[in-house]
Amino acid sequence: MYSEWAKDEIRIDRLEIFAHHGVFPEETRDGQIFYVNATFYTDVHKACEEDNLAYSIDYGDACFFITEWMQNNTCRLLEAAAEKLARALLLKYDLICELDLEILKPHAPIKLPFGCVSVKVHRGWHRSYIGVGSNMGDRERYIKGAVEALEAHPLIKVKRVSELIVTKPYGGVEQEDFLNGVLELETLLNPEELLETLQKIESAAGRKREIHWGPRTLDLDILFFDALCYRSETLVIPHPDLQNRRFVLEPLAAIAPYMCHPLMGKTVAGLLKEL
Ligand code: AMP
Repeated sequence: MYSEWAKDEIRIDRLEIFAHHGVFPEETRDGQIFYVNATFYTDVHKACEEDNLAYSIDYGDACFFITEWMQNNTCRLLEAAAEKLARALLLKYDLICELDLEILKPHAPIKLPFGCVSVKVHRGWHRSYIGVGSNMGDRERYIKGAVEALEAHPLIKVKRVSELIVTKPYGGVEQEDFLNGVLELETLLNPEELLETLQKIESAAGRKREIHWGPRTLDLDILFFDALCYRSETLVIPHPDLQNRRFVLEPLAAIAPYMCHPLMGKTVAGLLKEL
């Protein structure tokens, strides 16, 4: 579950587990003791009001889940174990919005005196808005196909799909009208992983990058990712042109009118009004 404000904490401290993670063959053969620390970020208001565990995360159940996971899987790296276990917990317990997960290895094979080694990760659900467009072939089918591909991804939940609108092409290239819409996703992927996933879906739909702003079977753009402002060689977030595109702002305002542009400090509804 994604939440912008759930910051209550449920903690598990030093859960002891005998398991078989490690780079050396004797570690995976003989096993050793690990400790797990976990902090689950959630919202306990309803559980408090009702005084009912059904509205919270059962830490006893979570301890058994962590123990079984650590015993039933073998990773060479503590990093891999921490990442995979964090994902498994976020997928199993819908009330965990974010978590810290630390795996400690007090008997790591280091021939020096030391207290403990550990790896800690912070992971959680993100909310992202995706612009979707098509102007070649069966446009609706391509867009539905993209929604289905995203729904089938284990680390993505499609929460909302806007109505699709027919729009005139943008950018001056002579071509067919577009069908455009916006999707709201919750995801455990980071922005670069999400872009990679979207580009794979575009390629599977036969998308070829030939003419800039030219016709395309499927176009998927990351509009927002939480309130993140980010720029890399491959990715700019928020999408740098979204405030100039009615075909983005209209469907976006239909599903997220109060989403605030983190650089412009204006809501989507406000940006649409100004356009
Ligand atoms: P297009 O699909 O023609 O809109 O452009 C895709 C290119 O823009 C890819 O090379 C991406 O790496 C890059 N890009 C930069 N920012 C974004 C974004 N927010 N969403 C999607 N693609 C982006």
